[in-house]
Amino acid sequence: MSFDTLGLSPALLRALAEQDYTAPTPIQAASIPLVLASHDLMAGAQTGTGKTAAFTLPLLERLYPNGRRDGTPRKPRALILTPTRELAAQVQDSVRTYGKYIGMKSATIFGGVGMGPQIDALRRGLDIVVATPGRLIDHMQQRTVDLSAIEILVLDEADRMLDMGFLPAMKRVLSALPKARQTLLFSATFAPEIKALATQFMREPQEIQIAKPNSVANTVTHRVHPVDAEAKRDLLLHLLRNDARQTLVFCRTKHGSDKLARQLEIAGLRAAAIHGNKSQNQRTRALADFKSGRVGVLVATDIAARGLDIDQLPMVINYDLPMVAEDYVHRIGRTGRAGAEGLAVSLVSHAEEGLLRDIRKLLKQDIAIEDVEGFAPSRPLRLDGPGGGARPRQQQGPRPPQHARRPHAQQPRGNGGDHAAGNKKRRRRGGGGGKPVAAKP
Ligand code: AMP
Repeated sequence: MSFDTLGLSPALLRALAEQDYTAPTPIQAASIPLVLASHDLMAGAQTGTGKTAAFTLPLLERLYPNGRRDGTPRKPRALILTPTRELAAQVQDSVRTYGKYIGMKSATIFGGVGMGPQIDALRRGLDIVVATPGRLIDHMQQRTVDLSAIEILVLDEADRMLDMGFLPAMKRVLSALPKARQTLLFSATFAPEIKALATQFMREPQEIQIAKPNSVANTVTHRVHPVDAEAKRDLLLHLLRNDARQTLVFCRTKHGSDKLARQLEIAGLRAAAIHGNKSQNQRTRALADFKSGRVGVLVATDIAARGLDIDQLPMVINYDLPMVAEDYVHRIGRTGRAGAEGLAVSLVSHAEEGLLRDIRKLLKQDIAIEDVEGFAPSRPLRLDGPGGGARPRQQQGPRPPQHARRPHAQQPRGNGGDHAAGNKKRRRRGGGGGKPVAAKP
């Protein structure tokens, strides 16, 4: 299938061609025609499936015929709510990129930066507002935003907004919008609260489900390195020194992220930390440096990393396992995107055995457990408890191992030494390039 058949204007197709997108992803193929046909939509899709374009493209198309009304300042006609500032910034990037030839005005509204420029932008007139719920409520209270002309509302990563305690804010925003509007809800999972929200605020939504909930792209290789807690940092350094690829490292705490980034820098690696205690400027700069390659290692907490869109991130390392198994899926969503291969490495100490068991249970797939020479733990991990059923330290899985890797995966970061696990078996699930799913409109 090509984008030409989906009913998008030449101006949008031209912008897409510049992105070298040759075909719509499954979520795009399923959602674009439904949105263009004015349906409300509940879409189950995780980050990395192309969901941003799945709502941005038809949204732009729907606003387009009435765009560019010169003269009086324009009231916003579309509102996109996102859980985090970073995701809001990334969504606006997409709005700008795809809308390059149709002249829509958009702005982001989020906390951590001054209200002044946002008020100015709203006063000058906007077509599309991309906002986080908290700051939008601030503007509503100060009457600096007028939502009376909203025709389309998008709730992006609705499950994360709920997790972050935004339900009251979301309800407040929803209640303030015109009833005659189109509502699009995107979420990786559909908890009962989300379904309740949909029942209350949506009109006979069409449902599409892309990828099983709690699944990760089948182009990601998962690997666990058992290690004693006190040797984790040295193991991380060892891995990073021997693999030059851009790496996102997850830490459980803000303090831990800062400390680890500092230690990596002292060890001679270019690293930065991103977490909720950093100012918006610091977060933006760290992300930009990482995207440009100036920084090779970004150390992040779960909340800060939510929705980060880093093209084709090749490697994610869990320095600490997440406390909640679902967060493993969100973390790994940053790699193996749009068919590219990705590697998810977890450094697991004995104290984290239970967490690893939970993750394996959730993923419903085995994870290769491999000791790294010189870093084997004092005793093996025990993974045969509840939810485990594991056979430690061996390659497992229903499919035979495949060893194909992209050539750049072999480049050394340091002095040309082998990757820590370079001579071990590597496994890639699926045939490569495959999309996770089938769409069911
Ligand atoms: P998202 O799920 O919206 O975070 O998108 C994940 C990544 O896929 C982004 O880097 C997009 O630029 C990219 N992408 C989106 N749609 C397509 C497409 N049709 N073809 C290739 N890449 C795409």
